[in-house]
Amino acid sequence: MKKIVLLGSTGSIGVNTLEVVKNFPDKFSIEALSVNSNIELLKEQINLFSPKIVAVNDILKADELRSQIGNTCKILTGEDGLKEIAATCDYDIFVGAMVGFAGLAPTLEAIKRGKRIALANKETLVVAGEMVTHLIKEHNAELIPVDSEHSAIFQCLIGEKTKEVEKIILTASGGPFLHRSKDELKTVTIEDALNHPNWKMGSKITIDSATMMNKGLEVIEAYWLFGLSKNKFEVVIHPQSIIHSMVEFVDGSIKAQLSMPDMKLPIQFALTYPERLPANHVQTKFHVIKNLTFFEPDFYKFECLKLAYDVLEVGGTAPCILNASNEVAVEKFLNGKIGFTKIPYIISKSLEKIENHKHPAIDQIFECDKETRLFAGQLS
Ligand code: MG
Repeated sequence: MKKIVLLGSTGSIGVNTLEVVKNFPDKFSIEALSVNSNIELLKEQINLFSPKIVAVNDILKADELRSQIGNTCKILTGEDGLKEIAATCDYDIFVGAMVGFAGLAPTLEAIKRGKRIALANKETLVVAGEMVTHLIKEHNAELIPVDSEHSAIFQCLIGEKTKEVEKIILTASGGPFLHRSKDELKTVTIEDALNHPNWKMGSKITIDSATMMNKGLEVIEAYWLFGLSKNKFEVVIHPQSIIHSMVEFVDGSIKAQLSMPDMKLPIQFALTYPERLPANHVQTKFHVIKNLTFFEPDFYKFECLKLAYDVLEVGGTAPCILNASNEVAVEKFLNGKIGFTKIPYIISKSLEKIENHKHPAIDQIFECDKETRLFAGQLS
């Protein structure tokens, strides 16, 4: 029986993780859950999975929950609550499914305890990839990707040698604006941007998919996960999202991982690896799908993707600046304060303004994140 800590339990990855856990009651149990503020869904999850501890980021919501469920389980609050869960709970697998920079601190705690990290929070590797990969080795922790592209690459690399990899090809759906012109992007609405063709996800990652920043973050994430040189990562647009990514080898052979889009598959694999267990998955029927198509990404139109490649090259705290300014800009867009094309503008300005530190220590990363948020917050 493996005990699981799941941070971010009411988001789409969190909900899907609990679906997987429910299918294997004799293999997995839930030790702790965390949410930002959705205590209604958390209450249902507490009833179903009986965690010993939960963390609610929003302090008022935590009080509300306390008054409703009494001593059913211990309730922690704020970012310290997440850290405490990761640092003190008794568990085997840490599922990091929270959104954004907030995922970093608790993930570091889990790594220091040598746990298996099933990582959906890509920002952790984007902002602190160098440190995270170093700590993983030092503490003999295990990092298994949950992001569908990275799970695909991970699966394609099983039994292969890194030196025999020619390149990694990450697939991207292209999001809702694949067929709009750069000019048309100036006037798209929040509703347009939230209307993702293939995946139902939270609002932050859905906007990131519309700007293609999501793919940019994933390229940086892949760089840190798979230990290959920076020029080996390519993005190809594949609107059907059936091929989740590919690995090309030096002899020209290409391995791909395919399935209908369903996050339960990579989540389950991250929990059960190296085993594969049966699942009630949707069958992939090629005669129904008929066509798998591919396009080159348009770096001129999707400026965020270009910016992400740039910061991967520069390194240091540049990815942290990119991530923090992107989080700020996406929130502004979702609140109706800026137009869609202001997102890459705010990121570029932040990258120009904030100083880059090579090989940052953890304090410098937190400082850089704070400084960037302050600066980006003033732009519009
Ligand atoms: Mg992905």
